[in-house]
Amino acid sequence: MRHGTSMKVTRRDFIKSSLFLGGSLLLSPSPLYAQQKKGKRWQPAYEKLDREGQLAQRIKEAYAIFEHCELCPRECGVNRRKGERGFCRAPARLVISSAQPHFGEELSLVGKNGSGTIFFSNCNLRCIFCQNWPIAHEGRGKEAQDEDLADQMLYLQKIGCHNINLVTPTHVMPNILNATRIALKKGLHLPLVYNTSGYERSEMLKLLDGVVDIYLPDMKYMDADKAARYSSGASDYPDVTKEAIIEMNRQVGGHLIDKRGVALRGLMIRHLVMPNRVAGTEKFIKWVADNLPKSTYVNIMSQYRVEYRAFDYPEIARGITVQEFLEAMDWAEKQGLTNLDPQSVAVRDFYQQRRSN
Ligand code: SF4
Repeated sequence: MRHGTSMKVTRRDFIKSSLFLGGSLLLSPSPLYAQQKKGKRWQPAYEKLDREGQLAQRIKEAYAIFEHCELCPRECGVNRRKGERGFCRAPARLVISSAQPHFGEELSLVGKNGSGTIFFSNCNLRCIFCQNWPIAHEGRGKEAQDEDLADQMLYLQKIGCHNINLVTPTHVMPNILNATRIALKKGLHLPLVYNTSGYERSEMLKLLDGVVDIYLPDMKYMDADKAARYSSGASDYPDVTKEAIIEMNRQVGGHLIDKRGVALRGLMIRHLVMPNRVAGTEKFIKWVADNLPKSTYVNIMSQYRVEYRAFDYPEIARGITVQEFLEAMDWAEKQGLTNLDPQSVAVRDFYQQRRSN
């Protein structure tokens, strides 16, 4: 999920424009480029899965889970089809907050025309510093049928977006599968981006194997007590999210882009640096280096903002310092991570240069 996207023109926007204008040298080393046959368009994973006759079966299996909902690690066991609600408070029907092109995501997702983001209401994690709290905590949005979601996907494709970016998708995964198949029959061919807090069960992710092309998980904390304190008692977050990310990597592998630099497939991990090292950034980086390829795409994010109830927690009731961001980037370099988000690298370079002047 996205953190710290601001409407103001910020230093980050400035750096992003610079990257578009001529910063190709700043892009991560050794990206994977897709080999495409001339004249042939890229085929998303779900297209192949449907051709093999497996997508319909996945939808059936996923929908059955609604009757005893264990879609996420909360494992509430409620029957959402009968109107019961679990921790996420979500009904079995979709609730959608918005569907629009977004230009604040990673550059390879934004490309020229934007990432086609669809924000789902409600959330299975509910962090106290959530910047989308009216949507995630209060469930503001509009109820929709799977057919409506399919239409929104097709609309985003029609206006030129490079992907369908499903924000907070975990609790509506069955609806997403169904909508994808409906949209596929009407011509959808964009990669699906599964933009998640990372609080996922790896068993459920297996239903997405061959459906999702790009996984965009957060790794928010490395310590159980921090996860419990800031994310509604989810003390199992570090363990289940690590397992989930390993599964995501198994399914989609490294960050693959086309010749325009637009993402087609792969794992992209987000880690938000928080004040007073509460996110366990050093441990996170070490974990990536020890458990995933060093070329894994990692976005170390500097845009933590004090939001929602974070004002009541003194240790996170401020933005991060330059030093907190730079030490995080240093750890990544020391651990030999080779595919850091280019915007984070640009922000680091900007501050390093300023310090040396
Ligand atoms: S998706 Fe919602 S109802 Fe289902 S297990 Fe998770 S929190 Fe509970």
